[in-house]
Amino acid sequence: MNKFAIAIILLILGCSSNEAKKNETNYTPKVKTSVTANLCGDYNSLNNKIRDGLIKKDEALKQVQTLLPQLKVYFYKNGGKDIAKSNWIFPIQGYNSKSIGGTNGSGYITTGYDYFDGNKHKGHPAQDIFIADRNQDCLSDVTKKPVNVLSMTGGIVIATETTWDTTSVLRGGKYIWIYDPSSNSFFYYAHNNKVLVHPCDIVKPGDTIATVGRSGLNAFKKRSPTHLHLMQLKLDDTNYPKPIDCYKDLILLKGM
Ligand SMILES: [Zn+2]
Repeated sequence: MNKFAIAIILLILGCSSNEAKKNETNYTPKVKTSVTANLCGDYNSLNNKIRDGLIKKDEALKQVQTLLPQLKVYFYKNGGKDIAKSNWIFPIQGYNSKSIGGTNGSGYITTGYDYFDGNKHKGHPAQDIFIADRNQDCLSDVTKKPVNVLSMTGGIVIATETTWDTTSVLRGGKYIWIYDPSSNSFFYYAHNNKVLVHPCDIVKPGDTIATVGRSGLNAFKKRSPTHLHLMQLKLDDTNYPKPIDCYKDLILLKGM
């Protein structure tokens, strides 16, 4: 076999392995244009600075106010759609509102929460949704497989953390922030095992974005049952993200 033939075979093998990777998850990667290639990276960097307390609140808000309108344009230009609440999907595959912690949404405690406090934030303006994982191996006790976290809404991924270990002080562990221009909200999915999306990915309700995990300062401790931490922040008229309780929406959602 000559060198040319070998090169062709290698090329074919390379393509097919890429194809297999694409098929691992059911979201569709979107094309990024060079003009906006840094946009989501920029928001992710800003979010890291906020998270780590490396930027003052007023400066951070200014940057949020600059980036969000651009992200909104990018979202609609790249196939993002307005999706009615009635078409949102329950954010854990195979589960429903019975798995939400607390009583009638009592897990939501907004006291003192401020997005710009980052990892040092107060309160728990979120709902925790638990999976059946008694031995805490991040696999379903029933199927023995990972449990998928689904995007509840449409939106654009604006920040992720894909790595975490037990020495980290990050409370959210491996997390995803999604900005949904349609509901004018951020959605935060925390404590994941594997994050399967990247900044600038456009998602729709039901897209697999992660697997449920135990990452995060408190979430990995034995006393914490395996769960997804789900928070919605609604943007006010100055684009300041403020917590809002999504419990009443969650209990109405269809599952997958
Ligand atoms: Zn939580």
